[in-house]
This record gives sequence, C-alpha cells and structure tokens, in this order.
Amino acid sequence: MTILTDIIKGKIGQDGPMSVANFMALALGHQEHGYYMTRDPLGKAGDFTTAPEISQMFGELIGAWLADCWLKMDSPSSFVLLECGPGRGTLMSDALRATKNVSGFHEAMQLYLMEISPVLKERQKQALGAYNPIWCEDLDDLPTDVPLLITANEFLDALPIEQAVYTQSQWHSRVVTLKDDALFFDVGAPLDLSVDLKPEEGEIYEFSPAIEHFVGDVSARIKAQGGTALFIDYGYKRNSLGETLQAVKGHEYAPVLEDVGEADITAHVNFQVVAAKAKGVDVHGPLGQGLFLKALGLNERATSLAEKATQEQKEALFAALTRLSSSETMGELFKVIVLSNIPEGTPAGFS
Ligand code: SAH
Repeated sequence: MTILTDIIKGKIGQDGPMSVANFMALALGHQEHGYYMTRDPLGKAGDFTTAPEISQMFGELIGAWLADCWLKMDSPSSFVLLECGPGRGTLMSDALRATKNVSGFHEAMQLYLMEISPVLKERQKQALGAYNPIWCEDLDDLPTDVPLLITANEFLDALPIEQAVYTQSQWHSRVVTLKDDALFFDVGAPLDLSVDLKPEEGEIYEFSPAIEHFVGDVSARIKAQGGTALFIDYGYKRNSLGETLQAVKGHEYAPVLEDVGEADITAHVNFQVVAAKAKGVDVHGPLGQGLFLKALGLNERATSLAEKATQEQKEALFAALTRLSSSETMGELFKVIVLSNIPEGTPAGFS
C-alpha cells in the first residue's frame, strides 16, 4: 500500500466518495506523492515508452511539420512554440535539430514548455536549455500578441476523466470509495448527462471536462492569435461507451486502484469531443499516426538515415518505422488531430 493510497483513503473518510477525475488528478499530480512528481516514467527502466523515445524520426518529422506551418503563416518574426507535456524533451530536441536550417525559424521562436513534473523539467533543462525555454503550467502564462504553434504527444491522455455508469435506467457518476478499508469503485449520485448512445445496464461512459476545457482554451487562443495545435494520442474517433481508464507500471497493465502514485494512469482520448470543442478554428483529422507520418516522409527519412547506418542500426531504424506506423502497433490506435488558424488552409500530412 502506498502513502498516496492512505492520503486518498483519509480524504474519502472525511469528505465521502471521490469523483474519478479527482482520484486521477491526485494519483498523477498530488504535490508530493503524485506519479509525475516523483519520477521519470519513460523508457525501458520506467513504465512506458512513447513515440519520440522510439525514434528520432518522430520528432524530426514533427519539427518539419511545425516549420512548414510557420512558412505557411508567412514566417512571422515572432511566435510561441509550445509543447505540452514534453517528457524528456526528446521530441522537441529532435524537432529543433531538424529545423536549424530553416532560415529565421529559431530566431523568431520563443520556446515554452508546459510541464508539471519537477523531475521531467530537469530532463528538459538538459535537453533543451540551449534554446532558453520558459516553463509554464497554464495557457494563461503565454503571450497574447503573437501566433502560437502548439504540439503535444501523449498529453491529453494524462488529463483527468470522469466516468458515468448506466444503472436503473439512468446515468450515475462513478466514484472511488472505501470498502473494508480498501479503495473501491462504486455507483454515485444520478447524473444529468445527454449521451447519444444506447447503454446497457452497468455500462460505462467516459468524459473529460479537463480535456474539453483545455481544447476550448487552445482553440480560443489560436482563433485570436493565429497558429496551429497538433495533438497526438491514443484514442477513439467516435463517441463510444466502455471503460478505457488504465494503469501501467513497468510496461504492464496494473489495477487502477492499486499502487496509487506508483503507476501511470491514463484514458483513451475521445477525438469526436476534441473536434467538437475546437470552436472557431479549422479541424483536420483525426488521422491515424501511421498515415500522418508516412505523408510527412517517414519512409524517405528512414531510407536516408539508413544510408550511413550499420547493419544493426538499419534494423533498428526499420523496426522503429514499423512500430510507429503499422496498424498492428501504433499506426492506427494513435491518432493525430490538428486545430488550425493559418491562411494556407490545410497543414502538411492532411490532403
Ligand atoms: N510528450 C512526452 C511525454 C508524454 S508523458 C513523450 O511523448 O515522450 C506525459 C507528459 O505530460 C509528461 O511530461 C507529464 O509530466 C506531463 N503532464 C501530465 N499532466 C500534466 C499537466 N496537467 N500539465 C502539464 N504537464 C502534464
């Protein structure tokens, strides 16, 4: 049993059942014992591996995509490049290396990193310190008078979700409570929820006020200031029933209510809702990550890197290409959605 489990049990003992979103926010973000506060979760020795950690090609292609947006915006002399949840800074470091020859791009850029984890901030300092980034925790910290280019890989899945359970012909909130002194999911109060799906008794519907709020804010800023936001995450295209809340520890699934604060907790992203909340801007996608990366030149990049590679490196390159783009691995489960307010219309990768 973890310290955070005790803290959460104490809160439930005092205040009554806790919403799933509050539970998730505490499990990940509790100031002292939250999952992201205490560790670097990435890589083989950690709990999960992300696309930029699989291959440099991922960040390089996103760098080219960002620079292309900047060019399509007529190369503004000043803009904000924001990454939300930059992890170890790998994506951004690959993206910026790949764009160093785009004349004027780095000079015009002010890099912002939105991050809650002190451990990962340190990693980002090492990877990106040379670009003088500014760390922030909120969109409100960004300037309001320049265009915004925003990128986020596996960020939305970490924002808290709520769950509803359909029982006795009505939606109820799903809550975390105590049973025999252990954490336990239970049915809470009736919930006024309009969902255009036909649930069976006991089915779960997930929704995320945090994502809706965030996407709404990003859209408003892009509408007002110009720019684009590129979100990549695992998720589903159409509003659906079913539970996707999951915990992962040491690259294995774990029960969500166990080892609280020591396992990553995420949920699949509902891209239909992301698109619906993107008010006043153009929406492109969701498109499978595989198709997106191939449209940006993944195969060509791998072939070009392979020219100077050893046999072993070549095998690793093509294994990474497959892992990032094949429909059996990340190519379809991971999706790309772009919110955009740039004059040229369609951003690269979407035809
Ligand atoms: N984008 C990186 C890391 C993904 S893990 C990669 O692809 O490798 C999720 C990232 O989001 C971590 O950096 C985590 O600390 C950060 N994060 C999670 N919740 C956050 C929040 N509410 N605000 C800011 N950053 C957050």
